[in-house]
Amino acid sequence: MKNCEHLNTKKKRINYPFLGTDFSYNGLVCLDCGASLWNKEREKAFNNWLVKLYKQEQYRFQMQIGLPESSLACVEELSRRYFGVTKAAILKALTVIYIELMNDGRFKQIIRKVTDGEVYQSFQDTKKERFKVLFRPLIIIDIQSISELTNRTPSKFVEESILKILSLFIEKDPMLKEFWEKEIKSKLETILKAA
Ligand SMILES: [Zn+2]
Repeated sequence: MKNCEHLNTKKKRINYPFLGTDFSYNGLVCLDCGASLWNKEREKAFNNWLVKLYKQEQYRFQMQIGLPESSLACVEELSRRYFGVTKAAILKALTVIYIELMNDGRFKQIIRKVTDGEVYQSFQDTKKERFKVLFRPLIIIDIQSISELTNRTPSKFVEESILKILSLFIEKDPMLKEFWEKEIKSKLETILKAA
């Protein structure tokens, strides 16, 4: 199919579903292919809407995730190391770090090693404990778009991200240990200090 250049547009009321509600706005729709166009104006309106939603309906930014019980000792260990910050704060920080690094070539290589490793495998198929993690609008936008691109639910993406970084924390492999010490630790500290 030929790519549409969206030359034939019309202003229309558009409902864009997000976080279980609708961002409703007047935008441009292409009459040839039906796409609604993402432009600066729409982006600004969307961002304003999202900030307002965060203030008024914060529960929508709270994600329910399930983590295997076998991974929780290591969340607790991290929480102890950082003077008792909540588990939710640790889980949020690990997700943010994963998103920050996920397009980095070196990190991709490290994560491939992690997911092939015993620790990550051991986290599969065990009983899960539920957590609620509140994310800020900027991170929610990333989580939503990445999960759409990778065909996962947002909570699945968050669960996997957390387990990959936790596995990296536990693995004994020297290369992984070094990556944790040099790359992850300082990021985690920075995020937890700002929280
Ligand atoms: Zn078009």
